[in-house]
Amino acid sequence: MRSALFWILGLLTINTFGQDNFKVYYEETDNGYTIYADNGEFCPVSVEIDFKIENLTSSIGDIKIIEIPEQTTKFYIADLTVVDRKKAIRLGFSVRYNHGNHLQESYDTDYPYHLPFKKGTEHMVTQGYNGNISHHNEYALDFRMPVGTPIYASREGKVVLVEQGNNKTCTGQDCAKFNNYILVYHSDGTFAEYTHIKKNGSKVTPGDIIEKGQHIGYSGNVGWSTGPHLHFIVFLQRFNDRETLPTKFLVGNGKQFLQLEEREKYTKSY
Ligand SMILES: [Zn+2]
Repeated sequence: MRSALFWILGLLTINTFGQDNFKVYYEETDNGYTIYADNGEFCPVSVEIDFKIENLTSSIGDIKIIEIPEQTTKFYIADLTVVDRKKAIRLGFSVRYNHGNHLQESYDTDYPYHLPFKKGTEHMVTQGYNGNISHHNEYALDFRMPVGTPIYASREGKVVLVEQGNNKTCTGQDCAKFNNYILVYHSDGTFAEYTHIKKNGSKVTPGDIIEKGQHIGYSGNVGWSTGPHLHFIVFLQRFNDRETLPTKFLVGNGKQFLQLEEREKYTKSY
C-alpha cells in the first residue's frame, strides 16, 4: 500500500451543464495514477486541468487544456508517475470545463445561414448586432414574431441542450436565467442558440441531428425579453463566456447573401 496524501479534487466552474454529464477522475496504476474523463454531452467539451501534485510527474507536462470528444467514456488524459516510492505522494487537481473546443479560433465565416422562419413569411430584425437594448458587444439578432411562430433551423447540426420548462418573462438581465432555448452544435465547432422559445415549444431533444430548414420549435417571449421575438446567436464557447460571431443569411429568393441590419424586414422565399 502506497502512502499517499490526497488533496481535494475540485470542480471549479460548471457553466451550462451539470456534473452528471461530465467528470474527470483517476485510477491507480502500478506506477502511479491515470487520469480519465467521461463526456456525456452531445458535443466536445474542453477541460482545463490544474494539477497540484508532489512526488508525481505528469505525462502531459504543462498542457492544461484538453478537448474531450462527445459521448466518450474513460477518455485518457494523462499518466502521473511516482518519482520516489519511499516518499509521500500528493495528488490533486482542479478542473473547469465547458462545451466546445476552447482553443479554436477559425470557423466557416462564409456559411450561408437560412432565415430561421417559414418559407413565404417576412420578419423584421428589431435589434441587430451590438444593438443598444441588450446586444451590447454581441453579434445577436432579434427577429420580431408572435408567440407560437414556427422556428426553422438556420444550419444543420446536433442538438446539445434544450430548455423549454420556463414560463416567466421579465426585463432585467438577471431574467436570463429564465430563458428557454435550443442549443445546436455545428460541424465547424460553432454553436447556435435559438432563445425565448415558448414553454414546451421545442420539437427536438438533445442528441437529435437536425437539417437546415427543419422545423425545430415555436417562438415565445420567455426569459429576459421585452416582447415576443426570437433571439439568435452563433458563437464559439469559451470557459466563462461566449464569443459571438457575425453571420450572413440568404434572403429573398435565396440568391442574395448578406449580414442582416436592424429595423430591416427580410422575406424568405426559398
Ligand atoms: Zn436579443
